[in-house]
Amino acid sequence: MTTKTDVLIVGSGPAGLTAAIYTARAQLSPIIVEGEPSSTSDQPGGQLMLTTEVENFPGFPMGIMGPELMGQMRSQAERFGAELVTAKVSKLDLSQRPFKAWVGDTEAAPTYEATSVIIATGARALMLGVPGEDRLLGHGVSTCATCDGFFFRDLPIVMVGGGDSALEEAIFLTRFASSVTLVHRRDSLRASKIMQERALANPKITVRWNSQVTEIMGDTKVESVRLVDTVTGAEDTMDVSGVFVAIGHQPNTELFADQLELLENGYLKVHDGSLTSIEGVFACGDVADHTYRQAITAAGSGCMAAIDTERWLETQGH
Ligand code: NAP
Repeated sequence: MTTKTDVLIVGSGPAGLTAAIYTARAQLSPIIVEGEPSSTSDQPGGQLMLTTEVENFPGFPMGIMGPELMGQMRSQAERFGAELVTAKVSKLDLSQRPFKAWVGDTEAAPTYEATSVIIATGARALMLGVPGEDRLLGHGVSTCATCDGFFFRDLPIVMVGGGDSALEEAIFLTRFASSVTLVHRRDSLRASKIMQERALANPKITVRWNSQVTEIMGDTKVESVRLVDTVTGAEDTMDVSGVFVAIGHQPNTELFADQLELLENGYLKVHDGSLTSIEGVFACGDVADHTYRQAITAAGSGCMAAIDTERWLETQGH
């Protein structure tokens, strides 16, 4: 059976849920397909479900745990009548209106027909995929220096990566950490010259060239890492309290990459706020933001997408 809706929101991080709150309060009865708990890139609540304490979201002076913040946003959306569906969109057809979305069997009739779609599928941090990384995520392993740096006051950490993000975050982390060891798999950095100069001049940063982290160890929190020299193959371990991974992000665009215009770097292209290349399809959050990537900016853009959607629906007589 196909359910019809005026607003279908795909994704339930801060962007999707803020869009849900706004469109629900505008009496548009949005349906949010929030993702599935089993998956790291499509899970309900998005990337904040993978962090511990969030201290920079305004309104929570004592901080709030990432999952709790998302739980509160979710309740707020539901309070105004948003319908959250715990499932993953398996196919999206944006070729004509009403837009069609499938959950599960893509050969069956579409699960939803929507007058408008808000895409809030987010992005995922690329991970190393080494033993210990998943288990200790949020317990010393982090992909966000801005979010978690503060917890490493006077502690030694490693930062993995050699691009601008890794260097920028390494420099930021020197405000807190006792030392930052940049672990890079080659003998030259990918980052811009100016960033390299800044990082290499920082007395708290040392670089482990030609090195890969092959295992992250610790019982309930990070205690050490195993490193391998990519040239000689020699192994050793280093005692650290934190492992920051900054080896790139990937926007979750698989559902619509061949239907909507993307930027050269793979992120979804938006213009005039939240408009995509197809009329009636709006976007918000990290899937369209390679610059800020913060919960608060995602939430702000979710609000923008909701308002843009509401105004557009009005022009369509809804
Ligand atoms: P990036 O430029 O793609 O760099 C990724 C880094 O991670 C590279 O050094 C890469 O090593 C390393 N890496 C990738 N996979 C790895 C693995 N499995 N194990 C170990 N190392 C791995 O990504 P980014 O730093 O996130 O930057 C993305 C874009 O945003 C870039 O265009 C960057 O210039 C821009 N950016 C700009 C600023 C700024 O201007 N302030 C700040 C942040 C980001 P290799 O070098 O060996 O490939």
